[in-house]
Amino acid sequence: MDFDLNDEQRMFRDVLRNFVDREIRPVAQEWEASGRYPTEIVETMRELGLFGLTVPEEYGGLGVDMVSFALTFEEIAKGWMGIAGILGSHSLSCWLIARHGTDDQKSRYLPDLASGKRRTGIALTEPDAGTDLQGIATVAVRDGDHYVINGRKTWITNARYADPLPVLCKTDPAATPAHKGMSVILVEAGTPGFTVERDLPKLGYKGTESCEVLLEDVRVPAAQLLGGVEGRGMQQVLSGLETGRINVAARALGIAQAAYDEALAYAGQRKAFGKPIGDFQAVQLKIAEMAAQVQAARLLVYWAASRSDGGHRVDMEAGMAKAFASEAAVFCALNSMQVHGGYGYSKEFVVERLYRDAPLMMIGEGTNDIQRVVIARALLSGAATIG
Ligand SMILES: Cc1cc2nc3c(=O)[nH]c(=O)nc-3n(C[C@H](O)[C@H](O)[C@H](O)COP(=O)(O)OP(=O)(O)OC[C@H]3O[C@@H](n4cnc5c(N)ncnc54)[C@H](O)[C@@H]3O)c2cc1C
Repeated sequence: MDFDLNDEQRMFRDVLRNFVDREIRPVAQEWEASGRYPTEIVETMRELGLFGLTVPEEYGGLGVDMVSFALTFEEIAKGWMGIAGILGSHSLSCWLIARHGTDDQKSRYLPDLASGKRRTGIALTEPDAGTDLQGIATVAVRDGDHYVINGRKTWITNARYADPLPVLCKTDPAATPAHKGMSVILVEAGTPGFTVERDLPKLGYKGTESCEVLLEDVRVPAAQLLGGVEGRGMQQVLSGLETGRINVAARALGIAQAAYDEALAYAGQRKAFGKPIGDFQAVQLKIAEMAAQVQAARLLVYWAASRSDGGHRVDMEAGMAKAFASEAAVFCALNSMQVHGGYGYSKEFVVERLYRDAPLMMIGEGTNDIQRVVIARALLSGAATIG
């Protein structure tokens, strides 16, 4: 069995490492603390073509394999996870449009999304429905050649820059089961009635905004219905979340690796009782356990990604990678903080940021409990097996 990256993937990773070392690491602490938007970093991501990660080459994107996709999020999250957020839901929605969009939607949006001229996000969650997406209240009513959308979305990453923003709506609120009446509609920025209301205050994940979005009588041409057929929205979103979970799992891996790196370096520098703290067995136990968690997470993430590259449906694999890697990130951030002693609690040390960023990985793209439900369902139904 060969878990090594191929030459192309290794070269791609080196480009990313170089970018993160040069442009993200030096500013991450200061910009994160001040809440400054990382405009210059976004510009370089544009130049590198990273907004086109999931856009097919025929539309000007990179169309990378899933392992390279995971490497992107791992490397960026090692430097600053918030920056990975700017690419995350953008990539998911590019993938949705490329996979499910009409020819017109693809040619109208994908080239500009690939170049980063346009950006996007995904609007699923509502104040009263997150896990239970079939319980959303946003409704799109057909009116001649248009839909009129009313509802409220919350926690929408990249909302201030998204154009178009794919919005999950009910086009037939009476449908049973509810998912048969759900659709995704591409809402362009500036459409009257579409308002990004406020940035939600949050523990970490700074650098990218998470907003509440109000849709009040938003009139959108019927041609903006993703794929052109009503009732497929939930199915489209669920297929996209598979990719999204690999993205979050890879970000979690990046956080876990960074926490381990910080602990390892500190254990060699900090002295107590006349010797480096890395000489104490209690510190060694933490280093060893973190290293094992990071490597196990890495294997799961690359495995899920390469299974996806092999054309398999990977709900179970992506769910396992996401749940395990995010818990490894939380474990490593806390243990790294302990290795740092009091300094680990200081905003002047990277580990404090990692500790605030890690828990989101257990929540985003479906909570870890839901991942476990997905894994168990796949196993119990026989859709997936292990061993
Ligand atoms: C910083 C941030 C950024 C985000 N970005 C986006 C975004 O860009 N777009 C977007 O649409 N959403 C986004 N989200 C929302 C995110 O996807 C949801 O928060 C997440 O899916 C959970 O939904 P919820 O918050 O409504 O929790 P709830 O669904 O209310 O869940 C609460 C608890 O109940 C548990 N639970 C619920 N149902 C079940 C069940 N059937 N079985 C077992 N346990 C269950 C959950 O696991 C959880 O522990 C973001 C969230 C955050 C915090």
